[in-house]
Parts: sequence; structure tokens; C-alpha cells
Amino acid sequence: MRISDSIYVVGSGQFGLSSRYDCHLYALRAPHGIVLFDAGSGLKHDRVLAHLHAEFDDLSRGAIIITHAHPDHICGTAALAAALHWPVYTSAQARAIIETGDEDACGLTATRAMGGYPADLRLPPCPVAATYPSDEPIDICGLSVTPIPVRGHSPDSYVFLCNLDGLRTLFSADVVFYGGVLGLINVDGSDLAGYRADLPKLADLGVEALLPAHGMFTLRFGQRHIDTAIAQLKKGFVPRMVGQGDLIL
Ligand SMILES: [Zn+2]
Repeated sequence: MRISDSIYVVGSGQFGLSSRYDCHLYALRAPHGIVLFDAGSGLKHDRVLAHLHAEFDDLSRGAIIITHAHPDHICGTAALAAALHWPVYTSAQARAIIETGDEDACGLTATRAMGGYPADLRLPPCPVAATYPSDEPIDICGLSVTPIPVRGHSPDSYVFLCNLDGLRTLFSADVVFYGGVLGLINVDGSDLAGYRADLPKLADLGVEALLPAHGMFTLRFGQRHIDTAIAQLKKGFVPRMVGQGDLIL
């Protein structure tokens, strides 16, 4: 599903593009290859591959960037990396989980036991090519991307800032959603203190395109959504959170 000149959604449970357990998988056309954000659950990775083949003529060069190590973002990493022969980039924290297939550390064991994921969902180990730095730009397939760590949804969550199609673009993962909704959830590692400490880093970025990993996205006035949550935190209030009706997962 093409959403701008360079940006596509090639997997999503909510949009019905792939497994219902998948986050949104954004793929973008960079100067020297395709950059894929997150890998989904892997339960229908064949659908993700089919969308990639349908949208892009040349998949010979690309990269997979993992935003954080939650099952709906990482369980498909090994399958997609093997099929595409693309390097995988993660944070240092996520690297240990993905390379060892640590189902406890990524929350899969606990969430699966609660019925949040199918009993047969696994995290196959996958080699990571390199870890990305914090708060400094890196070159991925010829595109300058700045990974920014923002704790709160999880300890290893990063968002990614870049310029695409003339738009200041933020891939906000599960950190902040449309409407200023935060990804604060009732699992180990998610905490409001992380948001208090780190979310203000996303003020004044001039974001136009806000591309979260669930729910609505927008190509215009993205900063307003981020600022709504930051303003609430500054006033001493708890911003809206996922699961409160704004964002049905
Ligand atoms: Zn998550």
C-alpha cells in the first residue's frame, strides 16, 4: 500500500495486509535500496514478501531496521532476512534478544501464556549485522536516518527521524501514536518514568509525517500529535494510552 512517493506499508494486522498479529511494516525507497522498518510476527511473512515484490522492482539491496524487541515486530526477522538477504540493524539491547531468540526477554512467553499470541508463535534466532547508535545520523541504503532512544513503551524502544519526499518524517514505532496516544502498556519494561524522561526529546522536531507501528498515520502536522502528549506530561497529567478506545489493537 503506497502512502507517499517513497513510503509503502507492506504488512499490517490492522490494515489486513498480513497476519493479524503484525505491527505496521513500513518499507521505503532509499537512494541505494529498500529500507524496511520491523519484521512483524512472521506468521504470514509470505504476504509481506508478496507486497514487497508487488511494490518494488528491485529487491536486490535493502536493510531491515528493528525498532524494539517485541514479538509483533521481531518474530518475523529471521524469515524475512533469509528470504531477502538483507542485513538486520537493531539497538544493542534488542540485538541480544534477537540473536539468541530469547522468548522470555521479548515478552513472548508471558504474552503467549495470556493468549495474546498463538501457542505456536516462536522467535527464531537471527544474526544482526550491526547495532545503530543513539541520537546521531547513520547512512542506511544512502538515506540519512537518526535513531532516537525513547524509553516508556519498552526499555529498548527507538524512533527514527529522516527526510523523505520533502517531509520531515518520524517512524515512531510503539512510542507515540496518532492523537498523542502513548504506548504505555501493562507489561514488564513499560513505564511512565521512561516517557517522562525521554519523550520531551521529540519536541520541536518539526515532524510532518508521523508513522507509528499501529493505528492511523499522517503525512501532515505530525508534530502536533507528539506535542499533545508532551504537553500533558509537562502539566503533570498522564496522556492517553493504547487500549483506552483510541487505538484498537
Ligand atoms: Zn511494542
